[in-house]
Amino acid sequence: MKRPQHIAIVGAGLVGCMLATLLARRGHMVSVFEKREESATLTNSTGRSTHLAISARGWRAIEAIDAGPEVLRSALPLKGRRIHSANGMEQIFQPYGDDEQAIFAIHRNVLNRILARICASTAGVTMHFSHQCMHVDASGGVLELTNSLTGEGLTVQADYIFAADGAFSKVRERATGSTRIRSAVQFESFGYKEVTIPVATAASLEPDAMHAWPRGEVSLFAFPNPDRTFTATLLAPFKGPNGFTNICTAEDVERVFAQRFPDVAAGQLCAELLANPVNSLVTVRCTPWTIDGRLALLGDAAHAMVPFLGQGMNAGFEDCMAITEMLDQHDEDFRAVLSRYEQLRKPHCDAVTTMSANTFDELTKQVASAHFHLKKQLERTIHRLYPERFVPPYELIAFTHVPYAEVQRRIEQLDNIAEELVRRIGPQGMQDENTVEHHIQTYITELTGDACEA
Ligand SMILES: Cc1cc2nc3c(=O)[nH]c(=O)nc-3n(C[C@H](O)[C@H](O)[C@H](O)COP(=O)(O)OP(=O)(O)OC[C@H]3O[C@@H](n4cnc5c(N)ncnc54)[C@H](O)[C@@H]3O)c2cc1C
Repeated sequence: MKRPQHIAIVGAGLVGCMLATLLARRGHMVSVFEKREESATLTNSTGRSTHLAISARGWRAIEAIDAGPEVLRSALPLKGRRIHSANGMEQIFQPYGDDEQAIFAIHRNVLNRILARICASTAGVTMHFSHQCMHVDASGGVLELTNSLTGEGLTVQADYIFAADGAFSKVRERATGSTRIRSAVQFESFGYKEVTIPVATAASLEPDAMHAWPRGEVSLFAFPNPDRTFTATLLAPFKGPNGFTNICTAEDVERVFAQRFPDVAAGQLCAELLANPVNSLVTVRCTPWTIDGRLALLGDAAHAMVPFLGQGMNAGFEDCMAITEMLDQHDEDFRAVLSRYEQLRKPHCDAVTTMSANTFDELTKQVASAHFHLKKQLERTIHRLYPERFVPPYELIAFTHVPYAEVQRRIEQLDNIAEELVRRIGPQGMQDENTVEHHIQTYITELTGDACEA
């Protein structure tokens, strides 16, 4: 192995802590700089979502740092979604995968605390809280930081720098070298508010699932907590007739819930809903991800996405695993790794960012359309008839390690097949299962050969 390198990581969020632990365990000296105070890093101070779903891609990294048992103790398995009907009378359970498969919901702070503690106790890691990175000279490997407690400036020299400082990355914005990073930060016209559904109201909600009230522009989602409460996320446009600007009194809240979520007692949530801030949703696309073979972006700093597939952190953990696997292949040569990193990861992160945006679009625009439901119904039947060849999109994303770009290709293929079948069968034909199966089998036979190989 080459000599241990001095690695500087900006950001002690989920991804920064994960990478620091993985690199220090390989024998490198890792300094982590986090702008928040130590206590704030370990409590809920980000104003971000309180819940995260961990799926297979994220688990792989969690297991690689032996955090699995501790994370499991604080996480709840979710086996599917429970969709609440518009009249509030029915619930449909949609399993995420087979009986054995689950994603895991965990409080963001709890996970960050576990990862930060493991990171801080790993030999070779030094954590510097209250240190905000202001500027990076990538070619020289130099970071300029400000200690927010004393106001003093600090200059640090490192062999390699990783920026895990989130969607609004200062490193991405300020880093200089032989090139600058060009980025597009897209703010959605939708935002979200989080509220706690108390135990009394939550009693009718099964804790084995994510609950969803998908009502287009104004939708509600709820994740169970270990204390039997639920954390609900209300999604709505910032402005307009359905916007948060029109959900600002107790009467507004009662009206919106009575119209859209009649089985959720609004009274219990009202005060919190009115008091809590509206959070933004952003998508970040940027290039290059590396400068001068010494600086690399990862996690949300490189690829923040809307959260409707629950993959942002999972993709960030996949970045960490990709870096360590390349270090294996290149005998710890970071320069060789950084020269390949963007080429290896960006196409997949672009793909999952696009798939997340498409899911957002489905949720806010298409979920009410009959055409959309026919296609989803067809996709389920195609999977039942050809379980190996056509795996449902969410299963591929959440329970496999199939690269995201390949997942995207397969999803598009299935979508095209469903689109053509809707055209062939028509809404009337969809009533009869035999007709549907006959059309599917005929069409798939027509498509035999490469075009249809999943
Ligand atoms: C509503 C919502 C729900 C989500 N649900 C899921 C989910 O279910 N599953 C999933 O996989 N993902 C989910 N995500 C995405 C997930 O939250 C992010 O992908 C993840 O937090 C990215 O981690 P990160 O470490 O890259 O960035 P962050 O978590 O943003 O951490 C960045 C860290 O850098 C620090 N920092 C920032 N600037 C500086 C600076 N200049 N100097 C020093 N430190 C700095 C910050 O204080 C912070 O600690 C969700 C996101 C949202 C908004």
